[in-house]
Amino acid sequence: MSETREADLLSSVPDGLFVGGAWRPASEGKTFGVADPSTGETVKEIADASVADGVAALDAACSAADEWAATPARTRGEILRKAFDLLQERADDVALLMTIEMGKPLAESRGEVTYGGEFLRWFAEEAPRIQGRYGANPEGTGRIVVSQHPVGPCYLITPWNFPLAMATRKIAPALAAGCTVVLKPASLTPLTTLFVAQIFADAGLPDGVLNVVTTTSTGPVSEAILSDPRLRKVSFTGSTPVGQKLLAQAADGVLRTSMELGGNAPFVVFDDADLDKAVDGAIAAKFRNIGQACTAANRFIVHRSVVEEFTRRVTERVESFTTGRGTEDGVTIGPLIDDRAVAKASSLVTDAVERGATLRTGGEALDRPGTYFAATVLDDVQPGSEILREEIFGPVLAIVPFDDEDEAVRLANDTEYGLVSYVYTENLARGQRMIERLATGMMGLNMGVVSNAAAPFGGWKMSGLGREGGAEGIHEYLQTKYTLTPDPFA
Ligand code: NAD
Repeated sequence: MSETREADLLSSVPDGLFVGGAWRPASEGKTFGVADPSTGETVKEIADASVADGVAALDAACSAADEWAATPARTRGEILRKAFDLLQERADDVALLMTIEMGKPLAESRGEVTYGGEFLRWFAEEAPRIQGRYGANPEGTGRIVVSQHPVGPCYLITPWNFPLAMATRKIAPALAAGCTVVLKPASLTPLTTLFVAQIFADAGLPDGVLNVVTTTSTGPVSEAILSDPRLRKVSFTGSTPVGQKLLAQAADGVLRTSMELGGNAPFVVFDDADLDKAVDGAIAAKFRNIGQACTAANRFIVHRSVVEEFTRRVTERVESFTTGRGTEDGVTIGPLIDDRAVAKASSLVTDAVERGATLRTGGEALDRPGTYFAATVLDDVQPGSEILREEIFGPVLAIVPFDDEDEAVRLANDTEYGLVSYVYTENLARGQRMIERLATGMMGLNMGVVSNAAAPFGGWKMSGLGREGGAEGIHEYLQTKYTLTPDPFA
């Protein structure tokens, strides 16, 4: 990848706030730097919004709200479809930008362009399918009309780990439903979002429908927007503690909320599993995005009779990984997002080993520029280890043995989270029992990756509220109205 190509791409990314359809600097003239985690170097300076800028973005979203809500659903869908097409045309640029600011290997960034783009296409198709119903009341004295309406201006907050998909997964259903939005991307990875905002402008989205504020004053800017009575909804993807804070803030305005929060996914391998498939699934579920996914398998719960074979095979695979900058050919593991992420992975591994786990490979930060942590396998992880309770968010595969199905279910459900679970078994009845017994919003049965724009993504328990994608996704941005009319024949 040539340095000139990267420099040209970075200079083509807007560096302002996107408010009311125009790019503008922050009102106080402040900027902040965005770094490449593979080197730690700043690659671009962008606008750092103040509270006043956040409110100006909400002003723009409110001004555009009525007209956008009244825009025919087909037109809204066609704009989303146009944005999908433009994203495909600019796929190489978006992928490279994500790799530069977030660190994932280029092949994975391309995969995210496909996945993230699908939300634009899916909700382009869902927009014209917003439906109500009409029918007689049981007494026959009137008619019940049920209609769906946009909830109104929305505040969307996204994390750094999937800079494109977490944005399109919110923008697309909101716009399809007829809502206008203010989007605040993570300050670690805002460039992809700014690039996507320009795609929407080029797709013909009316001014003010999508507004983007980048800021390092996240708390104050968010508080001002959330406490404004014109706002009607907040949709958040990020950590559970921040989600809890936002839910408390949303209570004052009785805002609609969607919360896609943390996970602690179990990955259960039974003795009747196809081990080739289980090992492939494990590598995908654990190491995609360098382990930094809410859906990443966190606890590998493996039947005692196959645990040694499974461990040997995953260790062999992990030792064949190539670590490096995501733009380099053949790289499978990039850097973690920052120093904090490296320190966390390191402390979880140390705690697990001190409590009796065996380190099969990896286990430490790499001595090179950038924030790299070696891909790691731990087995015989002991109960009480922090790594079984906390989201690892790094390339560490932790294995716990089990003896029977009841124990597997107990271990899998022993978490405050409930986002996704993975199960490998060739026994159909056992697979069906696991569907019924696991407390989880999503499940991969002999599948290591579940995300799909056509499916309802979301969690149980502390993993969140609401669903993104699928037929359910658009309803997060719609509210129901029931009207009683007289019997027209009376
Ligand atoms: P984070 O909670 O630190 O930040 C997420 C976003 O919230 C960022 O934009 C951040 O700037 C913003 N934020 C932080 N404090 C805020 C505040 N007080 N008010 C308003 N906004 C605030 O999470 P992160 O480190 O960016 O992302 C990793 C977390 O996200 C993990 O827990 C992961 O599981 C979760 N995640 C969940 C899903 C899902 O769909 N369930 C998807 C991706 C990531």
